[in-house]
Amino acid sequence: MKWRRTEITIETQQRLILRKTSSLLARRCEQCAVESTMISPEDAALICGSGTRAIYRWLETETIHFVETSRGTVHICLNSLLQAHNTARVATAADVHGHSTA
Ligand SMILES: [Zn+2]
Repeated sequence: MKWRRTEITIETQQRLILRKTSSLLARRCEQCAVESTMISPEDAALICGSGTRAIYRWLETETIHFVETSRGTVHICLNSLLQAHNTARVATAADVHGHSTA
């Protein structure tokens, strides 16, 4: 089905991006309370196919988990990012469905 194909495409895309990115950091996310992969806002934007502005908006609204290093670098919890991304995608799909001319 179309939906399923979209899922696979996104997964592949994520894997490609994650493989070539150098900013990956495996560490425990305090909010998840489990080991997560921490990535830069730029990589997060790539994975979600959105601009970094959308990522920072999620940071501000605490939709996604993040840690800030002493040097001021932000690392985003991949677990929460994917969850937020999936939720946003479902919301967008529902919205498109409701307004077919959009
Ligand atoms: Zn987390």
